[in-house]
Amino acid sequence: MLSHLLHMQGIDSVVIESRTREQIESTIRAGVLEQGTMDLLHEVGLGQRMAAEGALHTGFDLSFNGGRHRIDLKALTGHSITVYAQHEVIKDLVGARVSANAQLEFGVSDTSLHGLDTESPSIRYVKNGEVREIVCDFVVGCDGSQGISRSAIPESVRMDYQRLYPFGWFGILVEAPPSSDELIYARHERGFALISTRSPNVQRMYFQCDPKDSVENWSDDRIWSELHARVDQADGWKVTEGKIFQKNIVGMRSFVSSVMQHGRLYLAGDAAHIVPPTGAKGINLAINDVLILAEGFKQFYREGKNESLDRYSETALKRIWRAEHFSWWMTSMLHQFDDASPFQQQMQLSELAYVTASRAAATALAENYVGKAAVH
Ligand SMILES: Cc1cc2nc3c(=O)[nH]c(=O)nc-3n(C[C@H](O)[C@H](O)[C@H](O)COP(=O)(O)OP(=O)(O)OC[C@H]3O[C@@H](n4cnc5c(N)ncnc54)[C@H](O)[C@@H]3O)c2cc1C
Repeated sequence: MLSHLLHMQGIDSVVIESRTREQIESTIRAGVLEQGTMDLLHEVGLGQRMAAEGALHTGFDLSFNGGRHRIDLKALTGHSITVYAQHEVIKDLVGARVSANAQLEFGVSDTSLHGLDTESPSIRYVKNGEVREIVCDFVVGCDGSQGISRSAIPESVRMDYQRLYPFGWFGILVEAPPSSDELIYARHERGFALISTRSPNVQRMYFQCDPKDSVENWSDDRIWSELHARVDQADGWKVTEGKIFQKNIVGMRSFVSSVMQHGRLYLAGDAAHIVPPTGAKGINLAINDVLILAEGFKQFYREGKNESLDRYSETALKRIWRAEHFSWWMTSMLHQFDDASPFQQQMQLSELAYVTASRAAATALAENYVGKAAVH
């Protein structure tokens, strides 16, 4: 996205990616696009497939205490979300960059960063067995939570904030029609569950599990029985079963690197911050970071000023901390904690009852979910 935004401003960039194009275009990950992300894709001319193939959701359900309650995002905020898989967004972006003859280096290895505190930093990497080097004005580390960029910021100037959760999500991908028109977030005595979708034929479902558990312990029958126990309703509504073609367990953590820049290096997306997926914020935060960076680079090249770039961390972190809080809050409200006392269980239920009964509380949830919560 950053490469595309820069191209629209006449600024050249090179994208360096360790995986192949086929790999990044087929890895199924996030799927909830906030209003701002949808709007941006339209503004940059890449919204057609999302509008045609994505599913516009004007609300979602919270399930607890044996009942389901709808959060009407559209009525509460005037905004919606679109469920359109992250790898489809990537296909649209890569397609646009390839059509514009951009330099995209896929399948590289041994990436290393040099001269970040000079005005001409460089990136070295190996492609097809050959060492290559790109000397540039800026390096943007969009290399995810396992990349190399964050560690290039000295620990002496970086403050890392982290919260590890004592549970994980067991995720499955299923060949089936959607179980429900909208997403269902369920709090149940057996643990959290999420009924989500990726396309009309592929459904994404999750349930809370022990992060040290193994997918081998979970037969398809055991998975369905757990999901039925957590989300089926007394009125006869049941989760729709299908062929499970992927199972995985993801750990849950909140993380922020409070400095997102150092010299000529800027971090964006998961390289700088992680949210538990309960708030569906990951891809949206990454997009928001690069939108801020694109404005900073525009100012630098058009006006010769560093002001926006110098304030990048400060500007981006406002939105990031809001999303961190929201994701932590949703996670805390909906999951079972092993050490939770009966009092804490009642606190969760009371909070859920409040956010589904009070228009003010529901609006607070909804404006965070669609990405329109105010920050100063
Ligand atoms: C199972 C799962 C479900 C999720 N669901 C949601 C959801 O519903 N909603 C949501 O908003 N978010 C969700 N997320 C989070 C979301 O996918 C991430 O926040 C998002 O991908 C972050 O984008 P990014 O570009 O910062 O990092 P990434 O998507 O991780 O991209 C980083 C890229 O850098 C490459 N790379 C790494 N190291 C190097 C290197 N040294 N040299 C070159 N290239 C390198 C990697 O190959 C990778 O392609 C989910 C994540 C997972 C894993």
